Amino acid sequence: MSRTIGLIGGMSWESTAVYYRAINEMVRERRGGLASADILLHSVDFSEIVALQKAGRWDLAAARLTAVAQGLVRAGAGSILICTNTMHLVADEIARALPVPLIHIVDVAGHALTAAGMRRPLLLATRYTMEESFYRDRLRARFGIEAMVPEAGERTDIHDIIFDELCQGVVTAASRLRYREIMAAAAARGADSVILGCTEIGLLVRAEDSTLPMFDSTLLHARAAVDFLDGALDIGRVAA
Ligand code: GLU
Repeated sequence: MSRTIGLIGGMSWESTAVYYRAINEMVRERRGGLASADILLHSVDFSEIVALQKAGRWDLAAARLTAVAQGLVRAGAGSILICTNTMHLVADEIARALPVPLIHIVDVAGHALTAAGMRRPLLLATRYTMEESFYRDRLRARFGIEAMVPEAGERTDIHDIIFDELCQGVVTAASRLRYREIMAAAAARGADSVILGCTEIGLLVRAEDSTLPMFDSTLLHARAAVDFLDGALDIGRVAA
């Protein structure tokens, strides 16, 4: 079986760059020297995907990403990662069309939360991820975890900062402050942790921005990819 990792990236490329660096840094930490990860990357044009999201054409987005995933498999990928939380809305459909495992970002996050004893995480993500049920339902069904979402006005700010700033390489102190306020309000409402459930949020906030423990979906997903490379990933636990 191929241990090459197939990454579907570009959504946005700002966070795909984080995946690429994190995966290779973890391989270097584990193996040392000049070791680096065996990766195939297909980076899509994000503007086309965003247009489909806005139009609610998840069917077309699924078809597009399925074709990309199948191309990566033909090129030799032994597993597929979709490098965005939002597009996991169509992950099950993509996974069904593949002969190799799709390493699911929600399952990876769910295992990390469970291992740390977290039961009530705040989910920071795009509007789609916070408001559609796919993410919270999977955490509940598979892990018994009840994720909280921010209030309506907070969700708008979180979403707009992701698309108008972070995905375009803009990181500001004002937006960091807004995220800090939202995390503090959630802690007061009973959250026990925070899921950075959008792959760009780690570009803006760090552990010191909240009193709550943070679970960065990008880094957790990257670590799962490296575990796969090493043959150390229990694939049945994280495959869509
Ligand atoms: N990268 C983001 C995520 O993890 C948002 C981009 C997208 O809409 O795919 O959800």
